[in-house]
Amino acid sequence: LAVKGVQALSPYQPGKPIEELARELGLNPEEIIKLASNENPLGPSEKAMAAARKALEESCLYPDGNGFALKQALVNRFGVAMNQITLGNGSNDVLEVIARCFAGPESEVVFSQYAFAVYPLVTQAIGAKGVSVPAKDWGHDLDAMAEAVNARTKLIFVANPNNPTGTVHTADAIEAFLQRIPEHVLVVLDEAYCEFLTGEEYPDGIQLLERFPNLIVCRTFSKAWGLAAMRVGYSISSPEIADVLNRVRQPFNVNSVALAAAAAVLEDDAYLNRSREVNEAGLRQLAEGFDRIGLSFIPSVGNFIAVDVGEQSAAVYQALLARGVIVRPVAGYGMPNHLRVSVGLPDENERFLSALSEALTSAQ
Ligand code: PMP
Repeated sequence: LAVKGVQALSPYQPGKPIEELARELGLNPEEIIKLASNENPLGPSEKAMAAARKALEESCLYPDGNGFALKQALVNRFGVAMNQITLGNGSNDVLEVIARCFAGPESEVVFSQYAFAVYPLVTQAIGAKGVSVPAKDWGHDLDAMAEAVNARTKLIFVANPNNPTGTVHTADAIEAFLQRIPEHVLVVLDEAYCEFLTGEEYPDGIQLLERFPNLIVCRTFSKAWGLAAMRVGYSISSPEIADVLNRVRQPFNVNSVALAAAAAVLEDDAYLNRSREVNEAGLRQLAEGFDRIGLSFIPSVGNFIAVDVGEQSAAVYQALLARGVIVRPVAGYGMPNHLRVSVGLPDENERFLSALSEALTSAQ
């Protein structure tokens, strides 16, 4: 019964749930570690949780459909105008609404090989043609992506940094790319992991909006801000684009608890700094661990690393599960030899690394 694009969809596969594995292994959920969905290992900010509790206790009316308080917090932080913002139930929601608004069965949508799985998914769902451009050194080949644009191209998705490879382009490279893209094509710069980047050479997509009116910057509260459970993301764009997105999105797509938590965490710089510190140290710890074991990995600036465990990666994944450690296979991304592991707390990283050493032996 489903339309053509939808019939051919393969579902997005999230990391295995902790409760499911705990039941299978006969363990308590606390004994499982999940390093599979690039969540924040710190747990939520106390300030965000206090705001969430208050919102939950105070009202059971519909949420503010315009998300005024959260938008105001974003305006304060980024100096953008309220009418440039579109809120979503996670940034996946925004990505999907963008595809529905600006592409259709006659369109082409460009993304990179090894890029975030939701781009081909939302493209296929609307019956558009996805154009996957071969990657370069695991990252986006921006020149080849610009060359893939033709008269039918409506959208380009660029993940910077990219998931699952953790690759990133500098501000200069992104700007040079944007200069090559004609104005009838919208560029979605997905900056889900941008808060982990602290170097000045990296782009801040929001600063580019004035010069590139065909740019949409997408961000999320799920990663550095630690609110994956709440499902809040947003885009910042020209008011004209935001107006279209806001007409098409669901009227109450972000709930009151999530709105309150996100607005509160945006003012919690101490939490953000802790996220960055824990992540930097965790990336180093994992990289050193892989070197010790003798595994190659793709150097990452995100809160995850893709590690090459060889052809037996499915068996290694299973052997890790048997030891209560959930990571993410990325065969679906065309990376059959890699597993993606999210950065955890120091003891979680250590437990993962020793389980990995054992798993490699048992999988041989
Ligand atoms: N973009 C990228 C590149 C991601 O990796 C993710 C999360 N895996 C998202 C967007 C979506 O995040 P969320 O829907 O939680 O905001």
